[in-house]
Amino acid sequence: MPKLNENYLQLKDSYLFAEIAHRTAAYTEKNPDKPVIRLGIGDVTRPLCECALKALHEGVDAMASTDTFKGYGPEQGYAETRNAIAGYYKRNGIDVDPAAIFISDGAKSDTGNITELFGEGNVILIPDPVYPVYVDSNTMFGNKVTYISGNAENDFLPMPDHSQHVDVIYICSPNNPTGACYNKQQLKEWVDYALENEAVILFDSAYEAFIADPELPRSIYAIEGAKKCAIEFCSLSKTAGFTGTRCGYTVVPKELVFQSSTGVEMSLNAMWNRRQSTKYNGTSYIVQHGAAAVFSEEGIRECQENLEYYKKNAAVIADTLTELGIRFYGGKHSPYIWFECPNGMDSWTCFDYLLENIQVVGTPGAGFGENGKNYFRLTSFGTYENTVEAMRRFKTLF
Ligand SMILES: *Cc1c(COP(=O)(O)O)cnc(C)c1O
Repeated sequence: MPKLNENYLQLKDSYLFAEIAHRTAAYTEKNPDKPVIRLGIGDVTRPLCECALKALHEGVDAMASTDTFKGYGPEQGYAETRNAIAGYYKRNGIDVDPAAIFISDGAKSDTGNITELFGEGNVILIPDPVYPVYVDSNTMFGNKVTYISGNAENDFLPMPDHSQHVDVIYICSPNNPTGACYNKQQLKEWVDYALENEAVILFDSAYEAFIADPELPRSIYAIEGAKKCAIEFCSLSKTAGFTGTRCGYTVVPKELVFQSSTGVEMSLNAMWNRRQSTKYNGTSYIVQHGAAAVFSEEGIRECQENLEYYKKNAAVIADTLTELGIRFYGGKHSPYIWFECPNGMDSWTCFDYLLENIQVVGTPGAGFGENGKNYFRLTSFGTYENTVEAMRRFKTLF
């Protein structure tokens, strides 16, 4: 009999979306005449932009003849795509070496797989509430997690505790689920803390494209010193509607060098390169060619139009909650609005209350951690019409 990875026994059941689907289905079965509006959706809904579509078609056509056919590509990604991403960073005023950029099939895989580069016994700091992948991937590896609390007192932007040493720090900004976004000064404090502690920051910037204020950092590398302490994960999923097409990228600067227990220098860039070359055979050429087009001037402009659509929805939700005096976070530099459940309800009670009374479905904050238990997440990924109607219903209820 094989000995299994019993760390899997330690995983908490991820029943969140199944439970939402179950309760919603039970309600619609009993009330077929009451249309439900879903604002819990964590997936984009707008189609791919013209630029990306054209390039994807070109990618397919390249496969049709021997002189342009592509077989296995470089595991790290094609130069075309890596250069396009470096150009995108440059456009935002940040220098990133294309050799530090690794193309993947999305940020979920990379944020999950990165645990392989770290050994046992690290102090791993993860915010609560949080995107569940960080916690679960560490649990699968047998790592113990230390939580740092995001709450109303710190506007869901926890700051380092300088009296505590940590080795690995997860940060997601703009944040899923809270929509909160760190400013430069706050991120600088994290970078300085990481440098002092010789810690590594794992920075998830999947929602960077939603940042409207040029003063807010869209990358951890907007902060001086970050290349010595941070890996950045990003994705075309929310930026360009690639949730189904699949493409992401991870930046592992060559400056990230640490000593092994025996004093050997180890480069995280070289380790990730080895990890990917061993276990990943690259993102398809077709998708990478489409991804490169997303980062052209035209592509950025077209994607921005889709983001504007979502942002308009977010503004409708934010304006309504403001009018109703319901305290919320996000909605400005993020597709997410995280509100405090009115009347002291816990998040599942709030879920049932909204479903029963106004047929609006969202995501109970309890699904993202202990600190989410009195909060509720709405997303701006629905249609404009549904968002407006959902908010009209909110006004009848609160
Ligand atoms: C959606 C999301 C991602 C992107 O995942 P992909 O695998 O690239 O689709 C990464 N991080 C967070 C926090 C997300 O919400």
